[in-house]
Amino acid sequence: MSQRSATPEKAPLVLVIDDDASLRTRARFELMAAGLRVVEAASGEEGIRQVAEARPDLVILDVQLPGLDGFETCRAIRALPSGQDVSILMVTASDDLEAVESAFQSGATDFATKPIHWRLLRHRARFIVRAGQTFRRLQGALDGLSRSEQRLSDAQRLAHVGNWEWLSESDRMLWSEEAFRILGHYPGDLEPSLEVLRAAIHPDDRALFEKALGDALASRAGWSIEHRLCSPDGRIRFVQHQGAVDVDETSNELRVLGTLQDVTERRQTEEKIRQLAFYDSLTGLPNRRMLRERLEKTLRYATDRSLEVALMFVDIDRFKWVNDSLGHSVGDQLLSEVAARLVDSLRTEDGVFRRESPESHRILSRIGGDEFVISLLLKDGVGNASKVARRILGRLAEPVVIEGREIAVTASIGIALYPSDGLDVDALMRQADAAMYNAKTLGRNRYQFYTPDLGEAAERALSIQTGLRRAVEEDAFDLEYQPQIDVRTGAALGLEALVRWNVPGRGPISPVEFIPIAEESGLIQGLGAWVLRRACRDCRDWQQAGFPDLRVAVNLSPLQLRRADIVAQIAGCLEETGLAPSALELELTESALLEHTSTVIRNLEQLREMGIRLALDDFGTGYASLSYLKRVAFDSLKIDRSFVRDICVDAGDRAIVSAVTAIGRTFGLHVVAEGVEDEAQEALVRQEGCDAMQGYLVSKPQPIAKILDLLRARAAARDCGGGRLG
Ligand code: C2E
Ligand code: MG
Ligand code: MG
Repeated sequence: MSQRSATPEKAPLVLVIDDDASLRTRARFELMAAGLRVVEAASGEEGIRQVAEARPDLVILDVQLPGLDGFETCRAIRALPSGQDVSILMVTASDDLEAVESAFQSGATDFATKPIHWRLLRHRARFIVRAGQTFRRLQGALDGLSRSEQRLSDAQRLAHVGNWEWLSESDRMLWSEEAFRILGHYPGDLEPSLEVLRAAIHPDDRALFEKALGDALASRAGWSIEHRLCSPDGRIRFVQHQGAVDVDETSNELRVLGTLQDVTERRQTEEKIRQLAFYDSLTGLPNRRMLRERLEKTLRYATDRSLEVALMFVDIDRFKWVNDSLGHSVGDQLLSEVAARLVDSLRTEDGVFRRESPESHRILSRIGGDEFVISLLLKDGVGNASKVARRILGRLAEPVVIEGREIAVTASIGIALYPSDGLDVDALMRQADAAMYNAKTLGRNRYQFYTPDLGEAAERALSIQTGLRRAVEEDAFDLEYQPQIDVRTGAALGLEALVRWNVPGRGPISPVEFIPIAEESGLIQGLGAWVLRRACRDCRDWQQAGFPDLRVAVNLSPLQLRRADIVAQIAGCLEETGLAPSALELELTESALLEHTSTVIRNLEQLREMGIRLALDDFGTGYASLSYLKRVAFDSLKIDRSFVRDICVDAGDRAIVSAVTAIGRTFGLHVVAEGVEDEAQEALVRQEGCDAMQGYLVSKPQPIAKILDLLRARAAARDCGGGRLG
């Protein structure tokens, strides 16, 4: 029943296997119109024979056949020596996915669904034949490829390669199925054309393609470009687009053959690798490597235009505590939040950044745990860098809530300017780092510019640390005491112990400077233990000397409070000295309560149960979160000196003192005003309802030797109806 067509001998041969005669006729008509020769078979058995005899280039095979079905026929063809390389297009029912699957399993190259889309079939048949020929040539060139297992369409699909060809004169175009998919269409949805191909190319990349095509046609050379495609659904894909030009054997016109390889995934992988290499995985910000690379460019850019660059080191204060006590997950969330706030702080347009400064010269990177680096191209380095630094500190100071917990964030910022502070990346990084360290030693939550004597500051910090270590070993500290006075009666309620360190040959160093260094180096534990023991002993002595109700207040570092054995240590102190727990008040700053770990909570509860008093020190300077007052049963609240200082001149500060006192009363706390220096302040503090006060007006902190006199004079003055000591 086979029948040869009258098309030229050279034309590719297609075998149509179908039991439906009318379908075979239609197929022959269509395929011949596409310039192909056609043979037919009405059954699977006959088809297998035809493959062996006629050696077609393409078999179009119906799945439903009497006798051997399409799958069995396909397998049998593949088993023939002449059937291994032939392309087989299986025709299945439209919604039979299983059949499609089986078709591939039995060795089909491709499939088409019924009702057959004839125009598409024509294109497809031509294409499959051509691709099959190319593929066979390719296979000839590639040793070791298992011919029987390689099926062109499978390979194309796996490799995301689509082919197209275009005849230049007749402007006819063919796309492979995979080409349709890559170009964002369903196979057969539209008539392929060069116009449609162009339209699929990303507008910014079209010129690239036109040039490649134009050059190829002019010189008959090939091309290889990479560009983007825009799918109708808006997705962007990346393709490797290669092409070659030759002369079509049948029509003698110039023919352009193109392959499109979807490399989006590869690009994504590359991008991922780039991300890993150049970006911080937690915040998505550039990492140190990227910073360095871009900063080098920025410095060159600035040099060419005589501009300034500010390099800012932003280090989160006491981040390690958050991380250690609240856990890494909270730490990570905090870092992400900080990153977001930094981005936000840099986004604001207020003329600080140079107009002509491209975005790419404003770099925000994370170079280590809690270290962020910002580089900015600025008009006026010092003035504008300060503005940005203040904005950052302000933005960071807004409370952060993570997992229902309020966390306070402050940062220390160090700034170095190019070209005045350093001429290359390394020098600038070093100087900015030194400036940041300086900001830390000056008390954190501030920014500092680099100055050449910063080297000295760093050295000083180091020598303080060395000296501290020795001082802890040698008990080289002293205590001074400052009285707390009942605002109404003038009676001395207690004394706050303040540590003093007098370095031989150097003079006294302020606890504001050395306590943070002691905390950072861990020396605070030994120092804190010494202060506690000493203060308890002194207080007991004064009690025995005639002031039995006297209390002593000791400042406790957050690091001490975190120790599992702090309760035992304090209990030991009290026992050793014989001081009653109710005579000891521990002053805690809000930062100590940042860490609501089970240890801290348990310690506080146990201390309370023992009868020890707890005071919240420096209230209002930190995070002033009322939630602490609810969670921890404090006995007193100390309003920070900074509010009392301007209470007479600043209505806002007065309002704060008034509000804090009211809050204290609500919680049943004893409210103490710190830093009362003159009578005007005293009057207002009393008026606002504070219970007690402390400050230079009553007495500066005094050495131990002077305390008994002070207490006696105080008692005498009170008996005489007031008066104070200086
Ligand atoms: P603090 O606990 O808030 O102590 C009050 C500070 O204010 C003391 O500074 C005191 O001398 C100062 N002061 C008191 N009245 C006035 C006043 O009327 N005017 C002015 N301008 N200042 C006043 P000092 O002694 O320099 O201590 C500073 C900080 O160092 C303390 O602040 C405390 O946080 C810390 N500190 C001191 N001793 C210890 C200690 O033994 N352990 C720990 N962990 N920290 C300590
Ligand atoms: Mg204190
Ligand atoms: Mg204080």
